[in-house]
Amino acid sequence: MAVLPIVQLGHPILRSKARPVPLEKLKEKSFQQLIKAMVETLEKAEGLGLAAPQVNQSWRLFLAYPPSSPAVASSQPQVFINPEIEAQSEELVEDWEGCLSFNFLRGLVPRPRWVRMRAWNEKGEEFIVEAYDLWARVLQHEYDHLEGILYLDRMADLRSLMSLSEFEARMKKEKS
Ligand SMILES: [Zn+2]
Repeated sequence: MAVLPIVQLGHPILRSKARPVPLEKLKEKSFQQLIKAMVETLEKAEGLGLAAPQVNQSWRLFLAYPPSSPAVASSQPQVFINPEIEAQSEELVEDWEGCLSFNFLRGLVPRPRWVRMRAWNEKGEEFIVEAYDLWARVLQHEYDHLEGILYLDRMADLRSLMSLSEFEARMKKEKS
């Protein structure tokens, strides 16, 4: 199993709508291998989520770590296939986001505070997740990748955009 290259900002697949995954596809060894390779890629990159278009695969598939289980060796990210947003809060909250496809930036992004999402897992079993705060943010960020939308498009004010080094310096300062 290999760590996959992560497609970077400017690649057209990041701006394309991803294809739905047919149920039969889940029985293919190559598709299950893709999921495993994405898990390894996400672990290596130390991100919170990774969508298939980010590894140059046009499928409605993403992985995300629930915030309660950080990216440690024992925990596995949750697999979302053909996700659908069933409901979202009207209330928006703003927080910082980054993206593995342009990991050198951070920006403040307003998003609905909670979301209810329906999806399949890697076995094709349907499940529903109700997510709040950071978990809701991660799910919406990854879902957007399947629609060709990047967090930059969701920012209310591009003036909050900053380099990773500047962001880290500021966070350090705010903590001290
Ligand atoms: Zn992203």
